[in-house]
Amino acid sequence: MAYHITDSCIACGACQAECPTSCIDEGAIYVIRGDECIDCGSCASVCPTDSCQPE
Ligand code: SF4
Ligand code: SF4
Repeated sequence: MAYHITDSCIACGACQAECPTSCIDEGAIYVIRGDECIDCGSCASVCPTDSCQPE
């Protein structure tokens, strides 16, 4: 299991600041490196657009 970021991301950066494993990369939309995600849900809890979703 890993979270992923959908195309509703507005690139605010809130999720990246909260990720305990630093597995979220900046971009036009942000991207989670799924092999390093520990499925903690911290990104989803701060995302203003509900773009961090469990797979
Ligand atoms: S679920 Fe946790 S580990 Fe995975 S990307 Fe979100 S904050 Fe990082
Ligand atoms: S918190 Fe949500 S909107 Fe902001 S960069 Fe992360 S996924 Fe995108």
